[in-house]
Amino acid sequence: MRVHLKTLGCRLNEAELETWSRDFQALGHELTQELNEADLVVVNTCAVTSEAVRKSRQLIRRAQRNNPTAKLVVSGCYASLDPTDSPGVDLVINNQDKDRLVEIVSKQLNLHAMPEMATEPGENILLARGRQRAFIKVQDGCRYRCTFCIVTLARGEERSRPASEIIDEINELHASGMHEVVLTGVHIGGYGSDIESDLFQLIQVLLEETTIPRIRLGSVEPWDLPENFWSLFENRRLMPHLHLPLQSGADSVLRRMARRCSTVDFRQLIKLARQRVPNLCITTDIIVGFPGETDDEWQQTLTFVEQMKFSHLHIFNYSARPGTKAAELPEHVGREIQKQRSQTLHTLGEQLKQAAQQANLGLEFSVLIESKTGKTIDGQAIWSGYTPNFLRVVLQTPGELVLGNCIRQVRLESLSDEGNQIRATLV
Ligand code: SF4
Repeated sequence: MRVHLKTLGCRLNEAELETWSRDFQALGHELTQELNEADLVVVNTCAVTSEAVRKSRQLIRRAQRNNPTAKLVVSGCYASLDPTDSPGVDLVINNQDKDRLVEIVSKQLNLHAMPEMATEPGENILLARGRQRAFIKVQDGCRYRCTFCIVTLARGEERSRPASEIIDEINELHASGMHEVVLTGVHIGGYGSDIESDLFQLIQVLLEETTIPRIRLGSVEPWDLPENFWSLFENRRLMPHLHLPLQSGADSVLRRMARRCSTVDFRQLIKLARQRVPNLCITTDIIVGFPGETDDEWQQTLTFVEQMKFSHLHIFNYSARPGTKAAELPEHVGREIQKQRSQTLHTLGEQLKQAAQQANLGLEFSVLIESKTGKTIDGQAIWSGYTPNFLRVVLQTPGELVLGNCIRQVRLESLSDEGNQIRATLV
């Protein structure tokens, strides 16, 4: 079978797609980037915003229109929340069954497996697609009910993958040429809650049982972090970058969001993290225009964000999700105000980003060089990559040097004119 896989949304969806790719290949099926050529199409949907739902529907319709003879399988949060809303689909796989998707599809759609045809072990799909970082699913689901969040409703209770499975997956990827993995889930701080373990124990055993040079953490809610968490960063293979979603800098809004972290807690956490982890960069998510958000609450958010000195902001305009408590709240903020506030925050975000870049100039880091992004007029190659603390750098090298997917020591020299990346030189 020629299989075409498509995903929308979060890193967890990406991680699942990467696993399905390997599972289909192990059964001797061929992957194709071309929708029209496929015998089987699998779409991993998203429901985090109304825009994501619109795009999920569009993807499904495009698959049906452009390749009506192919078998069509739909999974993910949009399909799980509304399985009946996909007419003409051959199979809907709920989020609870995602880890068995290839097995269920093979059975239900009678796919003929030819494991003898499987590609040689070690052939890496991600590198073949120009990706140098693999997303690893470590857990699914969340026990909390933040009032704006549809994910917790779509993904259900917390379920942790056994550490042995995760170790094997990382070692396989490392053996196939990957140098960096990102641990991802819905609430990775909740890892182990169902198997008498926790995130500390998981990371500790991954650092012991794997040799991959770079382990990065995906988004971590700013609570439920286990004791001794910071001591893990003494191992330089754990990247000193944390994405800690704050969502709002006003306690009254955080209460309406039912977040488990006040601004005092968050400030304390950041202070401790920066004391314990050298060169740590912290990024965050902010929701703009949550129901009832007053000018004063918004000003509190701007002030708090500025004080926290984030190195990057992910900014989301609030999107009411049917089925969430927040959608029922009064005083929804108008689009115009949302746009103005979002613009102000983007401007602040750029200033904070440049300040974080400036603070790292002159330092030396090992960088995973990802791709060649261009050439200078005198024939020099331009490469880009990320530092351990997730700052984007560019460097120029003699044209013949091949650096794709290599780890090299560099010195951060200056900010690029556009200010969105750092010029570095090989050390
Ligand atoms: S902790 Fe995260 S995943 Fe869980 S409900 Fe809140 S926002 Fe959603």
